[in-house]
Amino acid sequence: MQDPLVLIIDDEESMRDSCSQILLKGRYRVETAPDGTTGLQKIRDLRPDAVIVDLKMPGISGFEVLENLRLIDPRIMAIVVTGYATVESAVEAMKKGAFDFLPKPFTPEELRMILSRALEYRRLALEAERLRREKKLLEDNVITMVSHQLRSPLVAIQQYFEVILADIAGRVEDKPKEMIRRASERLTGLLNLINDWLDLARIDQGRLVGKLKPLDPGKMMRKLVEFMTPLAKEFEVTLEWSGPEGPNFEVLGDEETLEQVFTNLISNAIAYNKPQGRVRIGLRADPDFVVIEVQDTGIGISQDHLPFIFDQFFQVSRREGKKMKGSGLGLSIAKKIVEAHDGRIDASSELGIGSTFTVWIPKVRREAEPV
Ligand code: ADP
Repeated sequence: MQDPLVLIIDDEESMRDSCSQILLKGRYRVETAPDGTTGLQKIRDLRPDAVIVDLKMPGISGFEVLENLRLIDPRIMAIVVTGYATVESAVEAMKKGAFDFLPKPFTPEELRMILSRALEYRRLALEAERLRREKKLLEDNVITMVSHQLRSPLVAIQQYFEVILADIAGRVEDKPKEMIRRASERLTGLLNLINDWLDLARIDQGRLVGKLKPLDPGKMMRKLVEFMTPLAKEFEVTLEWSGPEGPNFEVLGDEETLEQVFTNLISNAIAYNKPQGRVRIGLRADPDFVVIEVQDTGIGISQDHLPFIFDQFFQVSRREGKKMKGSGLGLSIAKKIVEAHDGRIDASSELGIGSTFTVWIPKVRREAEPV
């Protein structure tokens, strides 16, 4: 690796020379500039690791150099040097992005110490940035791998199973058919798990931010309840919806993922219910949030289990009642989606009596009406 490059910007030739000499004795490469304009040009051309800049210079001042440096590359470390060290100018320089402050006169040792601290800081910051980039690349690769190499062949197998089960490829005896039906069921479970995991990974990557638009949650919930009524009928459960609609209740949201949250909450409220049970869905607003509640008269969740239900893969044991196969990821996906909306999700429950899931989503902020 090359020795670090340090640029000294100072109008006093004696300062440039003495600093250069001090640094050239260490493992540094040194460049100098007699004024701010030349300094900025050299910053653009040479991309030094650190800049030592005098605050008080004719022409472009050290403060202006700092401002421009931050625009060119904020990772370049800046140390300011000045003869009129005041607290105000130090604070001002730090605000403009300087790493540290060196009041004149200073010893060679002080200069070397501050510089080596700045360069160590830079090394760590660059390393952290490199690791973040690598992590993102790795995650992207895993997501692509799971969706293509893993999911695609499983979908193909599932399609073959469907063809066999429908006797399209010729009649199949009952016994092997039953085996294939079970294999197909297990495969559906696995595909659901993979789809849920992909959703989770994609939300983790922050792909939702930027897709948020004003939407009417009352309208969305009414449509969703209509859509889920047949499933409720199958489970002999009644769905009840009441809630206002209209611009006063708009939230900033992504319709597709919010629908996923409430589909999950409502299907849980149906699946973990009792025959002749009820699911009540309501919407209200407080000054900052729209609050949506999904309340059921189902089996409930014990106080021991309640703190874990939003954890990935958490499922209460089968003995305690399970009518639909899930991945145990539904609620953790719901939580991630709600949090990506700057909202909150919570649950309360009483075993044998029922559960209530509550979601808060920020309302669209409207300018105050003129009086
Ligand atoms: P699953 O795919 O198992 O439904 P979820 O993440 O949606 O996964 O839920 C996690 C666990 O929380 C469920 O397995 C269930 O035990 C419990 N649970 C969720 N919703 C309810 C509910 N409305 N009533 C009772 N238990 C619930």
